Amino acid sequence: MTTFSDLGLSQKVLSAVADAGYSIPTPIQEGAIPPALMRRDILGIAQTGTGKTASFVLPMLTLLEKGRARARMPRTLILEPTRELAAQVAENFEKYGKNHKLNIALLIGGVSFDEQDRKLERGADVLICTPGRLLDHCERGKLLMTGVEILVIDEADRMLDMGFIPDIERIAKLIPFTRQTLFFSATMPPEIQKLADRFLQNPERVEVAPPSSTAKTVTQRFVAAHAKDYEKRAVLRDLIRAQEELKNAIIFCNRKLDVADLFRSLERHGFSVGALHGDMDQRSRTTMLANFKDGNIQLLVASDVAARGLDIPDVSHVFNFDVPIHAEDYVHRIGRTGRAGRPGAAFTLVTKRDTKFTDAIEKLIDLKIEWLNGDLSELPAPMESHENGKSDRRKSERDGKRGGRGRDRDRDRGAERETERAAGHKSDTKRDDSAVTTEAAVTAKAEPVRAERKAEPKPQTSNRNNSASHAANNDNRDRRNRYRRDQDDGPTPVGFGDDIPAFMLIAGKA
Ligand code: AMP
Repeated sequence: MTTFSDLGLSQKVLSAVADAGYSIPTPIQEGAIPPALMRRDILGIAQTGTGKTASFVLPMLTLLEKGRARARMPRTLILEPTRELAAQVAENFEKYGKNHKLNIALLIGGVSFDEQDRKLERGADVLICTPGRLLDHCERGKLLMTGVEILVIDEADRMLDMGFIPDIERIAKLIPFTRQTLFFSATMPPEIQKLADRFLQNPERVEVAPPSSTAKTVTQRFVAAHAKDYEKRAVLRDLIRAQEELKNAIIFCNRKLDVADLFRSLERHGFSVGALHGDMDQRSRTTMLANFKDGNIQLLVASDVAARGLDIPDVSHVFNFDVPIHAEDYVHRIGRTGRAGRPGAAFTLVTKRDTKFTDAIEKLIDLKIEWLNGDLSELPAPMESHENGKSDRRKSERDGKRGGRGRDRDRDRGAERETERAAGHKSDTKRDDSAVTTEAAVTAKAEPVRAERKAEPKPQTSNRNNSASHAANNDNRDRRNRYRRDQDDGPTPVGFGDDIPAFMLIAGKA
């Protein structure tokens, strides 16, 4: 069996790895570290969770032991698609580099330029950046890239999704051709392969299988729902309240706009909830995560982009408010629960437009997921809309406001792409809503009782708002009232468009 000491790493690094408690390298580490130490280019196909970060951080630390940093001329550069990932890589450098005296500069949006300038002035051995902020620094003339010996491009497929490839190409042109390049991507679509061919010279290709299975200890269920957001929100609330073992949960949405909406709705309904999405400033995100980790908030609404790669401890429940468009994201999301053999539960709200995505998920994980309370064919009639297009109006107000304000290059480009990725999905929604309504109206006429069939939630002591809403569980009127309350979610802040200030999304201490 290969151990870390077989890989050619320095003593300082080996000692830090031993202190971290790792004895056996993961497959990506075993495959990438030896050629990286020989200054070879690497094409690593691996996802977060495979030990990928250490597979480039450990050889970099070893190689950086020779030479020293010069002012404004970083020696190595790591590009990450999101601020959180960049911050996490910086944490890895601190952990594994604890026996080194290296200067690490984290250049991410949402943090003042001055502080970052000071770090660059001192000379950085390692520069960890999101692409937009790095270019901003270069344009301000504060940074010379000609001393970069090692370039790491991490999560290249996410970079593509977020529209960062032109920025990466610009950055690569600023770095000497003689550099060593370590390139990582979870998937290899043709665009990424082309990019790798351009950036890498005779790379060592190391591929590890993407996680395609979900832990056996996780109970997974699909939950049929109508496509209207207020209906889905009501189903979600019932579901949350019905969970007796709910310690904490992450609720995933496909779009950042829906993260904000769902967060506000849950908060108004008295849940202990926070939100994490790409538009929040760094400080708010860090506070939010810390509150969730410390148990000050019970539910965290998040988008994939915001949550990807985050070191969030084990959660008892995952709720997918939207079915993920990429089946791999389902595996990622579900992987947040049921860790280390502990039990977990994952519920996915499924509407009629989602079946092609649920089929892809079941194919990937090679498992038929059971339905809770009946499948889509048994879905009761939708609630008649009381809100006269209120939510649609709200949506179109927001959509009309989208784009344009670019204060932060990374944030705006990433966020736009995040929205675009889901746009096809959303337009399908609009089409299918009418079909569902017509079909359901017929069903409702024929079977008025079945429309109220769905199981009502059990009382949930750990939630703050449980008493009123399920006091009369089987009462039609009560159910309708609850829907009314949801539609009357209180005044939505008007005039903010997509830029709802981050402080409005910060959960206070419970
Ligand atoms: P990553 O894929 O880099 O996000 O790493 C996923 C997790 O695996 C992190 O919490 C690392 O600390 C941990 N990890 C990395 N390498 C090893 C290893 N060789 N053995 C055990 N855990 C590891």
